[in-house]
Amino acid sequence: MSRQRYWGAPLPFVHCTDCGLVPEKVENLPIALPDDVEITGEGNPLANHPTWSNCACPICGKDAKRETDTLDTFVQSSWYQFRYATNPKKWGEMGIDKEEANYWLGVDQYIGGIEHAILHLLYARFFTKVLRDLGYHDITEPFENLLTQGMVLMDGSKMSKSKGNTIDPDSLIEKYGADTARLFTLFAAPPAKELEWNDSAVEGAFRFIKKLYDRKSKVTSRTLPNIDQSTLSKESKIARVKVYEALQKSKAVYEKTFAFNTLIASCMEALNALDKQDNGEVWTEGLYIMLNLLEPIIPHVATELSEVLFNRENFAKVLEVKEEVFVQESILYMVMIGGKKRTEIEMSVSASKEEILSMAKEAGAKWLEGMIIVKEIVVPNKLVNLAVKPA
Ligand SMILES: [Zn+2]
Repeated sequence: MSRQRYWGAPLPFVHCTDCGLVPEKVENLPIALPDDVEITGEGNPLANHPTWSNCACPICGKDAKRETDTLDTFVQSSWYQFRYATNPKKWGEMGIDKEEANYWLGVDQYIGGIEHAILHLLYARFFTKVLRDLGYHDITEPFENLLTQGMVLMDGSKMSKSKGNTIDPDSLIEKYGADTARLFTLFAAPPAKELEWNDSAVEGAFRFIKKLYDRKSKVTSRTLPNIDQSTLSKESKIARVKVYEALQKSKAVYEKTFAFNTLIASCMEALNALDKQDNGEVWTEGLYIMLNLLEPIIPHVATELSEVLFNRENFAKVLEVKEEVFVQESILYMVMIGGKKRTEIEMSVSASKEEILSMAKEAGAKWLEGMIIVKEIVVPNKLVNLAVKPA
C-alpha cells in the first residue's frame, strides 16, 4: 500500500548503508511532510526534495535516507471521521478524544460512490476495530448506513469529460437557478439509481417551482390554521388528503429511504389538488406544510417563501399528521334502477345496508313508480342496484 506521491503519510522507515532498512524511533513520529515541496509532475516530489530525506539512522546514528514512498490514501480515509468528531483543542496523539468520539460516532449515514464501497469499507472497519482495541474509542462499526449514489447518464452512457457529453451545471443554474437543478436531479431518479439527463424534465422542475411561487397570494394567515374538516368542500378535503400524504411520506423519505423523487411527486400532486379548490385556510396549511417538506430540496425558494408568508421562528417545528384528514366522512353511491344509472346518494361511512336502501328508494322514487322491486343489491362503498318489473 505505498505510493510515489506527496499526498500521503510518509512510511516511517530509514535506509542506512550499514544497518539496512530500519524503522524510525517512536519518539520521532509522526514523520511530517515538508511544506516547501515542488510539484512538477515528474517523479515523486518527496524523492526530488533536496534535503527532506536526510536523517540520522535510528540504530547507529550515521547519516541515512528516509523512505520517500507514502502510504496509500486509504490509510487516511479509513478513520478521518474520528478526527472530524473531535474538537481540535482536545486532539491527543491520534487526534481522537474518546468521549467525543463515543458521543458522535459511528456515522449514522454515510454517502459515497459505489467505487469506494468495498475496499474503503473494509479498511474503515479494520481501522475502527484496531483503534477501539487500542483504547482510543468504544465504537465497533464505523458506519450505520451506507448510500451509494448512482451515476448521471446522457443518452444511456456515463457522463465523462473524455466523451465530451457532460452537462455544465453552471449554465443550468445560470438559466433556471440552483433550486431547479437540485429539484430536477432529485426528481429524476432515486439517489441510488442512475439518472438519465433530460432537458424537458428540467423545464418541468422549473415550472413546478414557478407555480409554487405564484400561489403565495393564496395564503391567508402567518401561522398554521386550525381547520374544521366538516365545513370543507369535497375538493378541499381531497387537497388536504394529498398534502398530508406528502407529510406522511416525508418522514420515511428523510429518515430512511431517501426516495426524494416520490416525495417530490407527492408535493406535485398536492399542489394540483390545492389548485382545484379555493379555501384560503386549506391553501395556507398546504403551502405551510409543503414548504417545510421541500426546504431541503429547494432551499432558496422555500426559505424565501416561508419567510415572506409565515412566522419563521415557529416554522421548523415538527409537523404532526392529522389522522382525521384521512377519514372519509361520506361515500357516494350510484343508484341503478332496472339496469340504468338513475341518480346518486351520499351516505355516511357508518350507514347500514337498510339505511342505504331506504335512501336509494327515496332518491329513485320517480323511477320506481308503477314498479315492483324484485331484487336489492348493495355493493359496499360503490352502488345500489334495484332490479324491477312492472307492477
Ligand atoms: Zn545505521
